[in-house]
Amino acid sequence: MKKPVVDFDTCVGCGSCAELCPNVFELRDEKAYVINPDGCATCDCEAAADVCPVEAISMVD
Ligand code: SF4
Repeated sequence: MKKPVVDFDTCVGCGSCAELCPNVFELRDEKAYVINPDGCATCDCEAAADVCPVEAISMVD
């Protein structure tokens, strides 16, 4: 299964991903961290990738 990865250089710390999916993402020092890559039970993190305004979230094998 694919796992989400955050590009820290691109992330602007808006918090949208953590708000949408707190099981997977957590905001620390204005950067999003993947705290539980397998935490998405519904959409394989596609919704989080879609909600990110700067496309900092990518899915990797
Ligand atoms: S939605 Fe994108 S820019 Fe906002 S905190 Fe998450 S990874 Fe960073």
